[in-house]
Amino acid sequence: SVKGIYMKYYAYYDNSMRNVLLEEQELINGIDKSLENGEFEIYFQPKCNMNTNKITGAEVLVRWNHPQKGMISPKDFIPVFEKNGFIKKLDQFVWEESAKWLHKHAKEHKILPISVNISRIDIFGLDVQDIFQNLVKRYELDPSWMQLEITESAYSSRSDEIIFVINRLMNHGFTVLMDDFGSGYSSLNILKDINIDVLKMDMRFLDKQDRKSQDIIESVIRMAKWLNLKIIAEGVESKEQVDFLLKIGCLYAQGFYYYKPMPMDAFEKLLENRDLVDFEDNKMMLAND
Ligand code: C2E
Ligand code: MG
Ligand code: MG
Ligand code: MG
Repeated sequence: SVKGIYMKYYAYYDNSMRNVLLEEQELINGIDKSLENGEFEIYFQPKCNMNTNKITGAEVLVRWNHPQKGMISPKDFIPVFEKNGFIKKLDQFVWEESAKWLHKHAKEHKILPISVNISRIDIFGLDVQDIFQNLVKRYELDPSWMQLEITESAYSSRSDEIIFVINRLMNHGFTVLMDDFGSGYSSLNILKDINIDVLKMDMRFLDKQDRKSQDIIESVIRMAKWLNLKIIAEGVESKEQVDFLLKIGCLYAQGFYYYKPMPMDAFEKLLENRDLVDFEDNKMMLAND
């Protein structure tokens, strides 16, 4: 009978759904254990002033030290965790560790602004505003010490909601950076709708040293100045890039040319060398002019 066929389908559908859910639940339980076991660790990659060569801040990047597979790159697990929702838990762990770190260093009067990454899944699945306000309160931080990186591609859908959340964060004193600027197609459109603080321009999207790429970078910087946006170049790997960026008025950079991401203790060792650091230069200003 027709009903029989439907029943069969329903039964089939129900069972397969349950299997999928179980698998995901198992994965999430496994990841919970990984968090408890301390398999996740925060690394720091310094940001530098290209004129003075001094460290003026850092980005916090998560690392997974898997007991069997060894060190796994975020490129391999962030997309998976964004799919299964675990990114929300992982990012809250990263933000908490970052806030703890700032608290410890504020006590020693060695404060550098650090930035953390926020996934679009976090923005829709969490009250990020509440979480960050709670963090600065519990760890007695100035919100300007904790900068928030949101990748450009996050703005591409449901942008009204994202803009609303970002405006609230900025109204509460947080600095918001648009990560991977230039990687998507929506870059210019977004800038017209949103009052972001800093553009993070990824040099790796334009790694060919041809004239056209240089023209693009130059016009992005000119536009940023015109819109009163600060700018930092990311993925800077060579002296040639540094010279070029300084010539066209970009002063700050993050990239292997200066430092690779490193564990917390290595970063702290670095900061002990006062000659390498400028604790005053944290404005991420635009240019030499
Ligand atoms: P991102 O936020 O754009 O971070 C910069 C990435 O570029 C880092 O890769 C960094 O190691 C790499 N990088 C920096 N300078 C250079 C350079 O000169 N050359 C090259 N080849 N690479 C450079 P990483 O740590 O593998 O992270 C990849 C991406 O994973 C990040 O891109 C970010 O989107 C995501 N991610 C990392 N940590 C977190 C986190 O805690 N939460 C979230 N939601 N995403 C994260
Ligand atoms: Mg980032
Ligand atoms: Mg980036
Ligand atoms: Mg990226």
